[in-house]
Amino acid sequence: MIEVDHLTVSFGPSTAVRDVSFAVAQGESFGLVGESGSGKSTILRTIMGLNADWSGSIKIAGQDTKSTSRTDLARRAQMVFQDPYASLHPRYVIGQAIAEPMRINNMKNVEARTLELLDLIGLGSQFRFRFPHELSGGQRQRVAIARALALDPRILLLDEPTSALDVSIQAEILNLLNRLRRELGLTFVIVSHDLAVISYMCDRLMVMRDAQAVETLTREQLRARDLAHSYTRELVAASGS
Ligand code: ADP
Ligand code: MG
Repeated sequence: MIEVDHLTVSFGPSTAVRDVSFAVAQGESFGLVGESGSGKSTILRTIMGLNADWSGSIKIAGQDTKSTSRTDLARRAQMVFQDPYASLHPRYVIGQAIAEPMRINNMKNVEARTLELLDLIGLGSQFRFRFPHELSGGQRQRVAIARALALDPRILLLDEPTSALDVSIQAEILNLLNRLRRELGLTFVIVSHDLAVISYMCDRLMVMRDAQAVETLTREQLRARDLAHSYTRELVAASGS
């Protein structure tokens, strides 16, 4: 579903991602883990076509993203960010926020689809007239997920999706995401600095350090501490998980 080959991303003279390759199968959940600044978010943003200066190749469902329009990319893949408050317009009620991508894309039956999405993410139809500030952090993240699903993408790129939430709410959102992946057959790439989240959510993971991929592991290898690289051992030890 996603093939990233020899990806290098630069910001002026500095290299944020250096020669990174990985592939994610349809329906798989793939994790990117590593310290802050190691290039994880940059990989997601580049897949979405949000960075200009990069080399290598990125394919989604076999199609090169360099020859895919931004609109087409948005239909195939959507991002969910750490802070749902920042990604929701304060003056739009929830129904408008969810409907916006559908209106921009001239979709039909926007009303009905908005209600369906509210139901899908476990908020009732009464939420459509509420403002973001009237919702809890967890409810806002549910809305951000509904909005990301509005165009019925096959892929969600989730950047620290629960890092801004209270611990008690994190599991709720992770379980919701797991259910949605199962029910909708979605493919996930999840960025997190939290190995427990990655281990819970991901079939495989790639460890990043200083713009480079250190190693790729299966969940079983992570749980069995079958780690090839000393950096990964440090990361696991530091996580205390
Ligand atoms: P992570 O998500 O792993 O914390 P990022 O991908 O956000 O790391 O950042 C990787 C590196 O790229 C960092 O050194 C960061 O400062 C730099 N970087 C990211 N985005 C930009 C940008 N828009 N302009 C300049 N430098 C950037
Ligand atoms: Mg980041």
